[in-house]
Amino acid sequence: MSIELYKEALKFFPGGVNSPVRAKVRPHPLFVSKAKGSRIFTEEGFELIDYIMGYGPLILGHSNEYVLEAVKNNVVNGWLYGNQTKFELELARKITKYYPSIEKLRFVNSGAEAVTTAIRLARGYTGRKEIIMFDGCYHGAVDSLMVKEEGGEVVPYSHGVPEELMRLTHVCQFNDPSCVESITKNREIAAIVVEPVMANVGVVLPEKDFLRDLYKIASENGSLLILDEVVTGFRLSLGGAQQYFNVKAHITTLGKIIGGGFPAAAIGAKKEIMDFLTPSGRVFNAGTFNAHPISMVAGLYTIEVLERLNPYHEMRKITEELVSDLRKILEERGLKFAVNQIESMFQVFLDVKEVKNAIEARKANNDKYIKLAEEMVKRGILIPPVNTETWFVSLAHTLDDIEITIKTLKKASEVI
Ligand code: PMP
Repeated sequence: MSIELYKEALKFFPGGVNSPVRAKVRPHPLFVSKAKGSRIFTEEGFELIDYIMGYGPLILGHSNEYVLEAVKNNVVNGWLYGNQTKFELELARKITKYYPSIEKLRFVNSGAEAVTTAIRLARGYTGRKEIIMFDGCYHGAVDSLMVKEEGGEVVPYSHGVPEELMRLTHVCQFNDPSCVESITKNREIAAIVVEPVMANVGVVLPEKDFLRDLYKIASENGSLLILDEVVTGFRLSLGGAQQYFNVKAHITTLGKIIGGGFPAAAIGAKKEIMDFLTPSGRVFNAGTFNAHPISMVAGLYTIEVLERLNPYHEMRKITEELVSDLRKILEERGLKFAVNQIESMFQVFLDVKEVKNAIEARKANNDKYIKLAEEMVKRGILIPPVNTETWFVSLAHTLDDIEITIKTLKKASEVI
């Protein structure tokens, strides 16, 4: 039973988990034994429709047959060589095909590692130290970016992050290019780092021209725009947010989907920038598991399915259906709310009318949302346990799943 295993886990792991959000699942954290398609099964044999989907990577759903077959076929040949494989080349060909801003790339293992390396690369390339980020954007557990604004001052949001580091990080509000403009006027900025769609305070969409303005400001000031497409890459379209919004980046970070559910991430840019990385340049990056053969295979075959089926339209339709019924349910209950959705990702904010940045997102009633999530889990639907995360719909979700989810939402929302 999950509850007994969780009690034991509390002995071994801080908070009983290996990543904090997992501790937030109510009524208690889940221990999963298997998953297939849109469904996840707990150790006690409880079946749930899953909208967490590994927090983003599983765009094809759990345990996709085609990816599974490829992984099985290749793992028998060994799984770590400390040398090159043709799979990393094939995956690089695909990524560079869909991301015109990427000529060369470096594979690493996690989004956090990709962003850490991207910042080091931007600093090494520009010879500058300071960076600008946006309140509410999350880029992984990266010291320089684990900051928040408090009374006009930038302070760490994690203990253990030195305040000295904060002198090099500036924070603006999402959708406010004028803040970025005024900082770049007076200071030498190495990089502006942004999630093209915020996905870690719930979902917050960029306003028209925001991303384009950032690219322009960066270009005019000799800084680099780092678009963190760890979530949006291959999610909004094959060419990610860059294709979707028709915008450019100097450096792109990818993760999640490019490993097909196995650990992989990447930093990509034009040759001139990428060649600053070791061994061709002097900005250090290395990794035992970089371009792990099995992750490369899983990513490659995931992208092949996306190319072959081009399921974006279908996934959007099904998500829109879910979102539109969710709206109806909340309206009928007379609740104030905002739902922000783009393609197959969305989040609902309760007791607010509109959310355009992190300040507005934080005004939403998360306690109510947590209650809703708990009620959903009890009724067999796994949704993000807190409103700062994102619902992900996958290719494996069917109209039947959506119908069950809507019926369940109707019942579960009675508690809020
Ligand atoms: N960037 C973004 C936009 C993310 O959402 C995340 C994690 N959800 C990361 C980076 C960090 O990725 P990882 O958890 O693989 O380190």
